[in-house]
Amino acid sequence: MAFAPLAAVPAPEPGFGPWPVNLERVDGELVLAGHKISDLADEGTPLYLVDENDMRDRARAWVHAIGDGDVYYAGKSFLTPGVARWMMSEGLCIDTASEGELRTALAGGVPGERIGLHGNSKSDATLRLALESGVGRIVIDSPGEVDQLAGIAAEMGVVAPCFVRVTTGVHAGGHDFIATAHEDQKFGLSLATGAAQRVVTAISANPHLEFLGLHSHIGSQILDSEGFAAAAAAVMDFAAELIGMGIDVPEVDLGGGYGIQYTGLDPKPAIEIDMIAGIRSAIDAACQRTGIPVPRLSIEPGRSISGPAGMTLYRVGATKDVMTDDGVRRYVSVDGGMSDNIRPALYGADYTALLVRESDADLVPSRVVGMHCESGDIVVRDVALAADVSRGDLLLVAATGAYGRSMASNYNMVRRPGVLAVSEDGTSWLVRPETWDDVLGIFPDC
Ligand SMILES: *Cc1c(COP(=O)(O)O)cnc(C)c1O
Repeated sequence: MAFAPLAAVPAPEPGFGPWPVNLERVDGELVLAGHKISDLADEGTPLYLVDENDMRDRARAWVHAIGDGDVYYAGKSFLTPGVARWMMSEGLCIDTASEGELRTALAGGVPGERIGLHGNSKSDATLRLALESGVGRIVIDSPGEVDQLAGIAAEMGVVAPCFVRVTTGVHAGGHDFIATAHEDQKFGLSLATGAAQRVVTAISANPHLEFLGLHSHIGSQILDSEGFAAAAAAVMDFAAELIGMGIDVPEVDLGGGYGIQYTGLDPKPAIEIDMIAGIRSAIDAACQRTGIPVPRLSIEPGRSISGPAGMTLYRVGATKDVMTDDGVRRYVSVDGGMSDNIRPALYGADYTALLVRESDADLVPSRVVGMHCESGDIVVRDVALAADVSRGDLLLVAATGAYGRSMASNYNMVRRPGVLAVSEDGTSWLVRPETWDDVLGIFPDC
């Protein structure tokens, strides 16, 4: 095995990079919205912490930036009934991608008309629930879904509100976007092959379906508006075609994927107001070019709202020095891992970690690893940590609020950690920690 050069850097201090805005160091102690992290650890570790006001502020920034338009919070990044209530009170709608997410949003009291439903394989039961709940939009993702949804709507005597997800050929992520036909993936209906046009035509000809607009989602961790603008231009050209055929396109939904900082080395993404300005000017230009009216705009940010507001608190169980080709690397094993954050194992995602107590010890190249039976069970690939980190110490990992708890598993029969909301007003569970009864209760003989 080849080892990467040991170029570990320490996590930035609170106030910089990926940390929630209300995390600070006070007299050497890490404090979140007035609560000492070392006290919060008494709830048990691992533990997810959410800076409630940071998450609400991030949601509000998108609502402010979009102005006359809609922000659908992508629930798959992290959704609980409590989070749904926060988002509603900040003026957002909720984007769901499964029956479970739909049920969670409804349990949070979100009115159906403020919920969108996605999915490339929706069951009849899910579509029926969506129509019963009066969801505002169902995003059609395949040709067969037109007849499936129309049949259910006819049976129920309702008209189903439809968007159509198109693949524009723009695929963006990180810095780059590659304006080539990104056709070979499972989502959306191709503009290039005419599949999208056939589906829109079928919807608008069906009395049980109402065509409301076009949807596009180009990727994730996108840092500026360039890729969105390219996608918007392609969507608007298609909208002009449809309008030429006599089909109205009242709304365009450009999806999510707005990037965040995970480590101190990640570049800062564009601020919300600049992102939206870039998107709007691409839409306006296309409308001028083609002479069609400007559609209503919606977006679906997930991680940019939930990600940086969340952190994971772990306790160190063991340390070990391992020789590599480039020197010694310290392995710091914690009490969680790939069961509470699968992203490093799933796609090599990088994070950073901070020792909760202060230390004057020298920094050593370290790798934070989990307690699971996989060598790919990495929490933080490279970070400089104090040489005196040892069993019992607390480590805080930044930017785990999105796709952490929502992708958590019970691998190795662990109890999935709870999610504690923290604000100046106090703390409360968004998700309670699982008990051994939760884990063992699924077995018929337990
Ligand atoms: C995943 C997804 C989102 C949210 O993506 P983020 O990277 O969390 O912003 C929004 N819309 C659709 C259709 C998605 O699949």
